[in-house]
Amino acid sequence: MNLRTRTRPVVARTRGELAKAVAALRRPTGHGRARIVALVPTMGALHEGHRALIRRALELGDAVVVSIFVNPLQFGPGEDLDRYPRTFDADVAMCAAEGVAVVFAPAPDVVYPERPRVTVTAGELGSRLCGASRPGHFDGVLTVVMKLLHLVGPDLAVFGEKDAQQLALVRRMVSDLDLPVHIVGVPTVRDPDGLAVSSRNAYLSPAERRSALALSRALRAGAAAARGGPAGVRAAATAVLAAEPGLRLDYMALVDPGTLEEVPEDFAGAALLAGAAYAGTTRLIDNTTVTVAPA
Ligand code: AMP
Repeated sequence: MNLRTRTRPVVARTRGELAKAVAALRRPTGHGRARIVALVPTMGALHEGHRALIRRALELGDAVVVSIFVNPLQFGPGEDLDRYPRTFDADVAMCAAEGVAVVFAPAPDVVYPERPRVTVTAGELGSRLCGASRPGHFDGVLTVVMKLLHLVGPDLAVFGEKDAQQLALVRRMVSDLDLPVHIVGVPTVRDPDGLAVSSRNAYLSPAERRSALALSRALRAGAAAARGGPAGVRAAATAVLAAEPGLRLDYMALVDPGTLEEVPEDFAGAALLAGAAYAGTTRLIDNTTVTVAPA
């Protein structure tokens, strides 16, 4: 039986409340089958991208736990930790509408009773792409994902392909450290004009939002140039970004989806075209898969 409910989810704030709520979900079905619990980790300010993750989680599992936690460990000095959008009541309403069973919304000192001295290290994969301009970010991400996996103990956890580096790193962590959980990726949800939906889009002025569209346009141009080999893809994508004065490019890279290393010029096959750019002070990321033809 699917534990999709139309009632308000249980909101767990403490480890004890979470343990109790998850134990209730774990009770076997009437047929004696163990229930499948799916976790959707988020930082809140829920939007259509999160909704797609929740729906996928409910397709694959019997009950869904959504965590809402703005993780201080993954924010660098001067980043937007203090002004990150917080819309808790609306988030719980969305979870209720989607049939989420449990919302885990801990305070920082519940997750980190003291400053952690032992953390997960993302290694080389964490220093590429976004990691180059956000040192330590992925160590913080993996550490909190590891903790959430231990606290909730789900059978599967669902992540968005929008954060492709994060998804690749979580998959690596799970396989390298033998974590007993199945990781599921969900395609990026976009606004009708192509902009990838993001909690940070709330920061954009109307003019910045128009400029931001160049990022997804660049990815589409890159994908359309797949027959030009890696050089053609890179040139097409960067040309679009160079023509948009309202965006400051951080990186645009065509990489192996597993290792996140730049693919060589004679590469053919599926590669990840990933980019990051600033519209004003807002950092935006996006990516697409490109099937590159031999040059
Ligand atoms: P966040 O709350 O931004 O940390 O994101 C929580 C999860 O939602 C992550 O797995 C993200 O990759 C995923 N996500 C965020 N935006 C989107 C989107 N537009 N489409 C699909 N998944 C998304």
